[in-house]
Amino acid sequence: HVGEAGYRRVLLKLGGEMFGGGSVGVDPDVVGTVARQLAEVVANGVEVAVVIGGGNFFRGAELQQRGMERARGDYMAMLGTTMNCLALQDFLEREHGIDTRVMTAISMGQVAEPYIPRRASRHLEKGRVVIFGAGTGMPYFSTDTAAAQRALEIGAEVVLLAKGVDGVYSADPKTTPGAELFDSITHREVLERGLKVADATAFSLCMDNHMRILVFNLLVEGNIARAASGAKIGTLVST
Ligand code: UDP
Repeated sequence: HVGEAGYRRVLLKLGGEMFGGGSVGVDPDVVGTVARQLAEVVANGVEVAVVIGGGNFFRGAELQQRGMERARGDYMAMLGTTMNCLALQDFLEREHGIDTRVMTAISMGQVAEPYIPRRASRHLEKGRVVIFGAGTGMPYFSTDTAAAQRALEIGAEVVLLAKGVDGVYSADPKTTPGAELFDSITHREVLERGLKVADATAFSLCMDNHMRILVFNLLVEGNIARAASGAKIGTLVST
């Protein structure tokens, strides 16, 4: 992991399912917890950008199984991610007084700015939290891929991948007792061992461009701030 100085700029990826607290819609308790932890990160002087998934509303692939056209389902799902972004913005501004900007890959001027990379960087430099909505704006992609792409483009030093487990294991800990939790691993080793950190597109973007990924447990209070400070938690995937 990094030295005492910690990270300067991070990209946090949150799954939509967690945002919904296990059901459709937004769970204010979860959003509140995330916002409180992000406030801590900002107070520590770390620049933080966020990508949120949309699994608590729709997934294009699931809508397709129910008869819809895939691309249209994907667009619906991307709009869903933006609702999560607005919820987080609300908690950050209202409860913590933290300036935030939602920037979306699909234009929706009344609620968010368009994603303009250099403007995103300016917001971050000014200490604003930047929340990226609508994924990559492209059907057939994922918000993990959006996270990898945005992290690369804005020069984040690490993708903080928040999960419901402690990190990357040698096997599924639910079915394989004694599965080993790695504290660090290389991208190559993840592939060679057939482990799954993110979808293939997102993972290969990170691997090809030497982007570090920290997989950590969101369900442990305080972990977002720990992850952003470079503390030794979870599993660090690096070159
Ligand atoms: N999506 C998409 N393009 C993107 C990002 C997301 O089409 O660049 C759609 C896709 O249907 C995806 C859904 O939005 O299933 C929600 O994103 P994701 O599955 O990544 O959310 P998470 O699992 O993190 O909640």
